[in-house]
Amino acid sequence: MNAAPEATSHEAAASADRLKITEIFLSLQGEARQVGWPTVFVRLTGCPLRCQYCDTAYAFHGGDWWHVDDILAEVARHGVRHVCVTGGEPLSQKRCIGLLQRLCDAGYEVSLETSGAIDIGEVDPRVSRVLDIKTPGSAEVHRNLWSNLPLLTPRDQVKFVICSREDYDWAKSVVAEHGLADVCEVLFSPSYTQVSSRELADWIVADRLPVRFQMQLHKILWNDERGR
Ligand code: SF4
Repeated sequence: MNAAPEATSHEAAASADRLKITEIFLSLQGEARQVGWPTVFVRLTGCPLRCQYCDTAYAFHGGDWWHVDDILAEVARHGVRHVCVTGGEPLSQKRCIGLLQRLCDAGYEVSLETSGAIDIGEVDPRVSRVLDIKTPGSAEVHRNLWSNLPLLTPRDQVKFVICSREDYDWAKSVVAEHGLADVCEVLFSPSYTQVSSRELADWIVADRLPVRFQMQLHKILWNDERGR
């Protein structure tokens, strides 16, 4: 008589450790401070945002349920130190917090790419958080969770994807207003098809802006091919 409830509680415990995963693959980190390192990417499924330049819309839906132990085993199989948890918006799955902790406990250098729309307060402090600030040109500026900014530390990075000169001017004033360059590295990237890299680089140099220009290495190397 007691067998069914027991089985149900086992199932509940097992499902509590599962995450919806779009893909796990080995590549070079294409951006941010860890650029160039061989890195395992764990791409979680789902995102509540719809940035107009999104290059990972295939991660919005679908995916497969993975137990966290199986994710750890798959990461270990690739044999590298750096792991990037990305999406979609990985924090849209609450269990991402536990996954990040397990990866840190296992000794990896862990980074998290997050949209800036979800609270980062519970993320393990050993994780390097790469927090987007969505510009007006992204079409998702209203999703910025400004209460995340006081939580940033020098381990973290803030990223703006710049879609136009208006976006650049807006981002420049956000950096100044919040003193972001004094807290952590600030990254400016061109939206691939909307602003030329040269143009953005020239604006940054002309203004002597305390930000790091970056181009996405994986787009240059592999033309944004999925799984690279
Ligand atoms: S937050 Fe990232 S994954 Fe989500 S729509 Fe924007 S660019 Fe795409």
